[in-house]
Amino acid sequence: MSAEKTKVTVAKFGGSSMKDATAIRRSAKVAFDHKANIVVVSATYGTTNLLIKLIDLAVTGPWAGCQEILSDLEDRHLKIANELEGTPQIIDEIGEVFRELETITKGVNLLKDCSPKATDGILSVGERISSPLMTMALKELYTDKEVELFDIRKVIKTDDQFGSATPDFNQIKTNSDKFLIGAKYGDVVYVTQGFIGSNENGSTTTLGRGGSDYSASLIAEGMGADLLEIWTDVAGIATTDPRVCDSARPINEITFQEAAEMATMGAKILHPTTLTPVKRAGIPVFVGSSLEPDAPGTWIKKTSEEAPLVRALATRSDQSLLTLSTPDMLQQHGFLFKIFEIFNRHQISVDSITTSEISVALTIDDSTLLNKKLLTELENFASVTVEEDLTLVSVIGNHINHTAGIAQKLFNALQGDDSKINVRMICHGASKHNFCFLVHEDDATMAVRRLHKEFIG
Ligand code: ADP
Ligand code: ASP
Ligand code: MG
Repeated sequence: MSAEKTKVTVAKFGGSSMKDATAIRRSAKVAFDHKANIVVVSATYGTTNLLIKLIDLAVTGPWAGCQEILSDLEDRHLKIANELEGTPQIIDEIGEVFRELETITKGVNLLKDCSPKATDGILSVGERISSPLMTMALKELYTDKEVELFDIRKVIKTDDQFGSATPDFNQIKTNSDKFLIGAKYGDVVYVTQGFIGSNENGSTTTLGRGGSDYSASLIAEGMGADLLEIWTDVAGIATTDPRVCDSARPINEITFQEAAEMATMGAKILHPTTLTPVKRAGIPVFVGSSLEPDAPGTWIKKTSEEAPLVRALATRSDQSLLTLSTPDMLQQHGFLFKIFEIFNRHQISVDSITTSEISVALTIDDSTLLNKKLLTELENFASVTVEEDLTLVSVIGNHINHTAGIAQKLFNALQGDDSKINVRMICHGASKHNFCFLVHEDDATMAVRRLHKEFIG
């Protein structure tokens, strides 16, 4: 091991940067040029969705349908492996993961049931077969350094909440020091999986959809890295999703707080909890495109030179709005306590909330959580209405709750001459970085375009 510590860079490549052999080679070159010591990868493009389809089919359909998906996935990955001229050993390792996938899927198909634990086992395969591919591509480039495929489940320890497990930072720190120390001295480049971890018993867990960003951030914190790079298919964070609004433009620099607000309010570019570890550790983040690595991209830092009133807009779709009201609570205490005690017991997180004396309106992210038992308990003391297909639109920036006239400007801009947008709920005042409101999903794109034109131009 060399005696001198080197700068530690963790670089993460998402699914679109891992699409095929060409994309993987291009991403490997970016990691090589940026001297990344730890390379974290997502599953290849579309693979996690296909694994979800495989689970659905295994639970409901015949084995033949499962076999079709299994061979499609295996052929696709072996084709890339051959194009990358992988060694027989790495190709055998990929084959072994596929045999394991086949066995679990067979069990699920026989039982017609897939437990959350088995689901995570199946979903983890995406990252476990993409990481050997990146290892091959990096081995083509490095002649003077070892490139090692590393199983991140040894480092990312989590609780038992399969599907959206909570990582244990202390264990991650200890394990990073134990297993990834070579990266600190520049001797080894580790290639590893995003999205996955393991619980105390060693069972595979996952961090939630899009969780590879979070993995990379946790590893950066665990390693005490100098820099985290997130490489994706757009040249940095834009003022809104470029797929929704043509005039979205890249943001050169943004604070952790603003970017975290964007991520939690639905900007898909970053998994919602990505920035928590790096913010805690004060590690700067660069977001860039693996297709255009020389484009300026976005720097996420503790402070930024400018603090515009409106920096960006984000949307979160598939929101359900619950309205609870009870005249019995007029001038009584404990109404909110009762409601939140029920949500707490059902382990449901409430996102936005507005209240009046006898009514409460609140949003829930996942309507599948609104089960009969929960609704019956709520109905025991309040009348309950549920509205679905709503989208939360957020205006993100600085000093939002202390700026006179922002609400007037926002609501004027929202209404066009030809079509009016009904605002179903408003949340303003709690955050200086965010003003959000709820509209029907059909109006969300129009709302974003109108606000972008007014506030960002
Ligand atoms: P990856 O596979 O690299 O993780 P994702 O598809 O998860 O990539 O995230 C990148 C996508 O996020 C972009 O293609 C873009 O459509 C979307 N996106 C949403 N909001 C923004 C935003 N404000 N700036 C840039 N991209 C955004
Ligand atoms: N492959 C996982 C997903 O598609 C994790 C990720 O890509 O970040 O959700
Ligand atoms: Mg992503």
